[in-house]
Amino acid sequence: MIPLEEARRRVLNGCRPMAPRELPIDEALGCVTAEAIVAGEAVPPFANTAMDGYAVHAADTTGASAEHPVKLRLCGTLAAGGAPDRPVGPGEALRIMTGAPFPAGADAVVIVEVTQPADGGESVLVQQPAHPGDHIRPAGEDIAAGQEVFPAGTVLGPGHLGVLASIGREKVAVVGRARVGVLSTGDELVEGAGALRPGQIRDSNRHTLLALLRQAGCDGVDLGVVGDSEEVIRGAMVRGIATCDALLTSGGVSMGEFDYVKKVLDELGEMTWMQVAIRPAKPLAFGTVDGRPVFGLPGNPVSSMVSFELFARPGLRRLMGYPVDTLDRPRVQAVADERLGRRPDGKLHLTRVVVTYEHDGRYHASSSGGQASNLLRAMALANGLALVPDGDGIPAGAGVEVLLLS
Ligand code: AMP
Ligand code: MG
Repeated sequence: MIPLEEARRRVLNGCRPMAPRELPIDEALGCVTAEAIVAGEAVPPFANTAMDGYAVHAADTTGASAEHPVKLRLCGTLAAGGAPDRPVGPGEALRIMTGAPFPAGADAVVIVEVTQPADGGESVLVQQPAHPGDHIRPAGEDIAAGQEVFPAGTVLGPGHLGVLASIGREKVAVVGRARVGVLSTGDELVEGAGALRPGQIRDSNRHTLLALLRQAGCDGVDLGVVGDSEEVIRGAMVRGIATCDALLTSGGVSMGEFDYVKKVLDELGEMTWMQVAIRPAKPLAFGTVDGRPVFGLPGNPVSSMVSFELFARPGLRRLMGYPVDTLDRPRVQAVADERLGRRPDGKLHLTRVVVTYEHDGRYHASSSGGQASNLLRAMALANGLALVPDGDGIPAGAGVEVLLLS
């Protein structure tokens, strides 16, 4: 057996970032930038008003109050999208709406709430003094022309895409989402809802793995189910590798007589078969075929999910250019609300737990159910994997590190 960290090191070594490509910004959510983004223009592009009100000369409003308002002559109205056609002169006020360009001459905005129309709309009464700069948003306040807005290696979220749009970028160079094929292997597996013959079970792994890929920011490709035949597995892998950036298989990597996945992977490319000191998900076949990572995950439904979290997710995110600190799901320190039992066996146990954040300001964890690697429902109910080190388990009330799954 090898330690988890050694197995992860081997996996991450085989997952180098893919070549960058240009994507329309609306297709780039969750992708990692492959270029530093430099603004070609300022945001906002011109000084404008932050409030609905009047553009004035601040000096004209000195001493204004509700009892002694200052009267200014209205010289026009300017909406957002309009452009001022002349400067605002002394003693004048320009009615102005949020987002409208700030006119020359004036130096402050008086908000509409402290004014009153007068002279049948010819004038306005200002009831509070304004100060130069009040409610004016200067050009380039958010972003200056020529400024680097995001470095290469930025994970693009909704706000980033808005910023790209605001500086006039329609495309962005990113590493891109990985296309990842998912193949289930096993003679016993049945697709869909048809009747089960003796010895058959339904394939669940493809569905969980395709969903996990979507959560991880990958494009999953369904490669179906194949039986335990060396030729058939080889054919499916070769076809998958031809159209995908990476592959996930489940089943056929243990010590069974018909576990052909690791054999085929070894023939097709560089493969390392590992017995990792963890429970569940001890066996893992990882290899590269034509430089593309292939993860031979174990077949037990919980094992395949745990193996995905510990190996495939960080590996695939590295493939997609994610920074090192964003490869894994977050870890938190939690209090065990009950004993998380286990026996010494030289392995790190990943105990499925329900984690809650309580009023005491701490995370609390308790088992989500049976911990055998075939009990998928207890995995589905869990929102965390407690990292229970080798030994006799975590006593109730003690601290435990938890990988948050959602
Ligand atoms: P294996 O890793 O092929 O030895 O499979 C281990 C266990 O997982 C066996 O009980 C299999 O029937 C089960 N299994 C393998 N693949 C799947 C799958 N795609 N969906 C559900 N169970 C599976
Ligand atoms: Mg099998």
